[in-house]
Amino acid sequence: MTRRLGSGSLVIATHNAGKLKEIGALLEPYGVKCISAGSLGLPEPAETGTTFAQNALLKARAAAEASGLAALADDSGLSVAALDGRPGVYTADWAERRWFEVPLGFEGAPGRDWYMAMGKVEGMLAERGADVDRTAAFHCVLALAWPDGEYAIYEGSCEGALTWPPRGTLGFGYDPVFVPTGRSQTFAEIAPEEKHAISHRADAFAKLVAEQFGR
Ligand code: IMP
Repeated sequence: MTRRLGSGSLVIATHNAGKLKEIGALLEPYGVKCISAGSLGLPEPAETGTTFAQNALLKARAAAEASGLAALADDSGLSVAALDGRPGVYTADWAERRWFEVPLGFEGAPGRDWYMAMGKVEGMLAERGADVDRTAAFHCVLALAWPDGEYAIYEGSCEGALTWPPRGTLGFGYDPVFVPTGRSQTFAEIAPEEKHAISHRADAFAKLVAEQFGR
């Protein structure tokens, strides 16, 4: 039997204000008070895992141990079938533009470049030929950890296929090239409320809520 959170404080092991707000709103109806790891001054551990679950758990455990409270962390990314699941846990890293990659005279600066990341994926698919399998899935893993070492993992996914060129201006990250199964629009063309109902994050949260709060 999995341990239950109950009502009370929960540390959200993210320093991302957007994620904190989104997770806080999702858990508020269940009487959970969310506190950010950033506001407690908790350090961010390096994401050294090779799976989404390992990374989510190492972030949740670090926050639970340092705060003495239950903690929740997530890790997410895109897995492309023809690329053996890459970029996977390196999804954000593929968007990292380092100083030597910024062309001379180019206005941009080092930082995250999602167009470059989507292009990298597309380039690798193109190398595999015109009839390459374009199946892909977004994954989201949530890890709950208690200070005594107990933990629970919830895995969500959203299946789809990659398209090129990118389409749409809504959303973030790889949204403009991802078409969820059964739809013709990309995640960046679908209204955010609609995306939130079918996304990998929604799937993982539904599993957490079902087990933790019996809904
Ligand atoms: P992390 O979970 O903060 O480590 O981020 C993983 C990366 O996966 C993000 O930076 C995004 O690029 C990508 N990602 C995760 N979820 C989505 C999504 O819903 N749409 C587009 N990209 C996503």
